[in-house]
Amino acid sequence: MEYLFEQPVHGSIGVQPYKITIAWRNGSFISDEPVKSGGQDLGPDPFTLLLSSLASCTLATLRMYIDRKHWDIADMEVNVNMYQTIVSGNMETTIDRDIKFISPVTEEQRKKLNDIAANCPVSKILQGDIKVRTFTHSDAALEKKINYSNEEGTVVWKPELCKHSGRCVSGLPKVFDVNAKPWINVDGATAERVAEQVSKCPTGALSYEVKKEVHPSSE
Ligand code: SF4
Repeated sequence: MEYLFEQPVHGSIGVQPYKITIAWRNGSFISDEPVKSGGQDLGPDPFTLLLSSLASCTLATLRMYIDRKHWDIADMEVNVNMYQTIVSGNMETTIDRDIKFISPVTEEQRKKLNDIAANCPVSKILQGDIKVRTFTHSDAALEKKINYSNEEGTVVWKPELCKHSGRCVSGLPKVFDVNAKPWINVDGATAERVAEQVSKCPTGALSYEVKKEVHPSSE
């Protein structure tokens, strides 16, 4: 299992409701809530961000397809909005997407582009099988450590911080195996690969210490 992004999207909030700094791989922006919900509307709210994702994926996917086909279609626009209703006690969300081609398109092109938009990657995510896994972590967790070493380095595991999400196990099963004893085998992969996987532990339960090189005395 490989994550889509090397660095996760990072969010942080202080005491000001509901100003949130979202950091992504190439910068950061503010998210907020509308004034009527207690925020200051300093940035897009979470629902707007969700719809923005669909809008941008739709247009990018159409642009790629049109360019590949060498069709002469320039500017396009999309409006995305949503509503929610309770159906048989369950919340049902409907997202409507309206795409407008500024340049003329044939009826055949319009139908094809409608299909392409309907199957853009974010559409597939929203309409597919989604799991959201949630883990909570606290800096106040106890500092108990267990070391697993070889000649190249030491994997340090802090069990109190481990939320058993299994990300290390699925990412590098030859090193991390909960059915083995000990459960971490530092010889199961190169030091670089072990260190890389350790750096992806979301809780800080894992760290990697490189052993200092010992140089023979020159005297
Ligand atoms: S990735 Fe980190 S938190 Fe998850 S199981 Fe491995 S050590 Fe524990």
